[in-house]
Amino acid sequence: MKKDKQKERFYLLSLGCSKNAVDSESMASLLGDAGFEDSSDPAEAQVIVVNTCGFIGPARKESIAALRDLAESKEPGQLLIAAGCLAQRVGPSLAKSVPGLDGIIGTRRWMDIVPFINDLRQRSKPHPLYHLPTEAKTVGRDEKGVLRAAVYGGSAYLKISDGCRRPCAFCAIPQIKGTIVSRPSDRIISEARELRDAGVNEIIIISQDSTDYGHDLGLKNGLSNLLNDIVAAVPDLPWIRIMYAYPGYVTDELIETMAKNPQILPYLDIPLQHSHWETLKRMRRPANVEWVHRTIKKLRHAMPEIAIRTTFIVGYPGETDEEFADLKNFVEELRFDRVGVFPYSYESSTPSSTISWRVSEEIKENRQVELMELQQQISLEQNQSQVGRILPVLIEGYGDGLSLGRSYRDAPEVDGMVIVPGELPVGELVPIRIDGAMVYDLMGVPDHIPSSTLIAANTILGS
Ligand code: SF4
Repeated sequence: MKKDKQKERFYLLSLGCSKNAVDSESMASLLGDAGFEDSSDPAEAQVIVVNTCGFIGPARKESIAALRDLAESKEPGQLLIAAGCLAQRVGPSLAKSVPGLDGIIGTRRWMDIVPFINDLRQRSKPHPLYHLPTEAKTVGRDEKGVLRAAVYGGSAYLKISDGCRRPCAFCAIPQIKGTIVSRPSDRIISEARELRDAGVNEIIIISQDSTDYGHDLGLKNGLSNLLNDIVAAVPDLPWIRIMYAYPGYVTDELIETMAKNPQILPYLDIPLQHSHWETLKRMRRPANVEWVHRTIKKLRHAMPEIAIRTTFIVGYPGETDEEFADLKNFVEELRFDRVGVFPYSYESSTPSSTISWRVSEEIKENRQVELMELQQQISLEQNQSQVGRILPVLIEGYGDGLSLGRSYRDAPEVDGMVIVPGELPVGELVPIRIDGAMVYDLMGVPDHIPSSTLIAANTILGS
């Protein structure tokens, strides 16, 4: 393998969620700034980095399998590094699971990837080398000036904070990422400007808990104020989408900010996890279900066309038939637009693992299927109500004479698509007349509204 002194190459495999994708992009730009060249082929790279996911069992398995594959095909002189959440969560024990691993760097110090590689190179002792600082002072604020976003066509995930201070009993994120560290708002706003100038039409606000933005900075209504600042600084940005709202923290100020700014999509992702107060108590989640009903009502009053996404965990330890029945009634009554249902995943290091009453795998799967089937009918009816509307659709790709895109009702990777005949410009917002609905997806045809009135179409949405 010929080594080009000037341009060493790196291969970076990004696993897990959109927040990990942003860390991968940031590590890639630091490597690029340090003179490395990005390679899509691990065999051609001197440095191989896997940005792992460690959230739940299946994700950990996927990360270890990917590392083992790369370790087996690794050649002398190549470095294999595990980064990300699994690296942070299990640390040195990962080296036992993956013989041939050279380095393990935690998700909290992704920004040290270049000096870490240099240390690995200078190291005389056999590998692996670990870099797993956990103390708060080392987390998050020194981003070395890199863009904290991941761009896909006309969309970009923009990270506003990292870590979480919530006590959810089933979740290992606070152990992995630490408590919330909000990014400076001026950085976020200038990045939004930078992304728009680069042609991005949709900015997707992400974090572990977007509604907690600024808490650690002593800010009140941090997210609402940040959104108003982004709208003011980037008035030509068509779409701003909010992901990961925490129950109890969708304030009247936030609802008002969403309703008065057409750029902020009438879309909200608010994982509720369950509906029965006793299950929520065992989950150490906000159990004021009345608040949920009131807030959904407020959201729909302020933005009648709003699309609400949520997620539920079924089969949580101790979940009785009565609690599950309550969840079904809740879903039927509130008629969410988008719902994800996940069977409880046992996590040994989380408080939920101490609850002795376990629900069997079979019951978990049956409840997942039952709740999804219930939601499919609701989703179809919600989609059918879109027929006849003209929706701006962000085109994501085309093939076989069909284009695929997303309307304001669809977040990437988790919601539906809009299917349109023809090959439409990728990354652009195109007005589509919706003429068909399926359980998750919509069909439509391009509507000949001059593109200049596109933002106006957004306003039509709001009226
Ligand atoms: S809010 Fe989300 S990331 Fe934070 S502990 Fe709860 S489930 Fe985990």
